[in-house]
Amino acid sequence: MSVFDRRNETMSAPVLEQVQLERLQALVARLRRNVRRYRERLAEVRVESLADLQRLPLTTPEDMVESFPYGMFAFPLREIIRLYSTLGPNGKPLIIGHTRNDLAQWGRLVARQLVAAGVTANDVIQVSLGRASDACAAGYVLGAELLEASVIAEDPIHMDYQFEVLKNYRPTFLITTPAHALELARTMQKRQMDPQTLQLRAVILSRSVSAELREQLSIGLFAAIHCNFGVPELLDPGLTLECEAGHMHIQEDQFLPEICDGELVLTALGREALPLLRYRTRVSAKLTREKCPCGRTGAILEPGSRLDRRYQVNETEFYECQVAEVLQQTRAAGCFFRLEATERRLIVMISMSEELFAATLSSPAETERKIESEILARLGVESEVQFMQPQGSRL
Ligand SMILES: [Zn+2]
Repeated sequence: MSVFDRRNETMSAPVLEQVQLERLQALVARLRRNVRRYRERLAEVRVESLADLQRLPLTTPEDMVESFPYGMFAFPLREIIRLYSTLGPNGKPLIIGHTRNDLAQWGRLVARQLVAAGVTANDVIQVSLGRASDACAAGYVLGAELLEASVIAEDPIHMDYQFEVLKNYRPTFLITTPAHALELARTMQKRQMDPQTLQLRAVILSRSVSAELREQLSIGLFAAIHCNFGVPELLDPGLTLECEAGHMHIQEDQFLPEICDGELVLTALGREALPLLRYRTRVSAKLTREKCPCGRTGAILEPGSRLDRRYQVNETEFYECQVAEVLQQTRAAGCFFRLEATERRLIVMISMSEELFAATLSSPAETERKIESEILARLGVESEVQFMQPQGSRL
């Protein structure tokens, strides 16, 4: 298998450390100069070795919420050429910006990830991540274009249309969510379709899945499965890549990883528009360094669960991610949601997506009840589901 950027992906430890240190020093100087929120926090600090990193202030998602919309940007708006939004804590929106250099770099980082998964100029790639992930899809398109692979400019919502796309374009790579991949595999099984008739060589999943699900998808779609791990506030995709040895490498020349009390903390060394310092990802993770047969030297990441808000209803305790897991099994899969715990019940406000709107057109109330009974069955908590318009007002 080939490596897209051998010089940057296979640096020896001393070279990598030197590169990281120089970029960190430049980053601290840039943040001190250009971002008011960091100016005071960084006034006294000196970075002379990577060990000094531990003394630098952490950045939290709440910092971004408080600086909404552009307060954390290190470049003036006139030099920001692309803006996306993502969802921060409590469902508050955050705005992510890219300069021209950021976009070019993003393309290169995603190209590395695609090459690690085996993409070449001969491949036809279908990117199907749903409306909520326009930014991720854009990143994959940038990377694929750099490799001169062919990207299908359609994102089918319905399964029947998905099969049309598979039949007509004959994609060799599918980039999608675990939920969509699973639905595809299940539908093929139900319709007694042989997955070997597809041309798919590999599927890249938008987030990592359990070993069992990976195996199930690999058999069900007759394709290799690769997983992505991204942090939308920093970069998603392009932050990590999964090599042929099944290791998820952090692209360490650009992202400096730490584990603080079990939590993954990342510093974006090279981003111009939004260069976050020691960003708390709220994801538990393990980092290892071992010689990988692929030759890449970036630290190997094992992402764990989200370190999420804990809720309590009627003395039952649970985490936000558990609700997300339940919703993933319902028609609201992939929709943004907000939670509010009252004494007796959990209020689940689900932001309506196009898919969900289409699926529940005739009976939104019935779908709400179904999700409530699912939450009761899985978490033992009474809930009230409310579908919201994306802006947050009740439908
Ligand atoms: Zn590797």
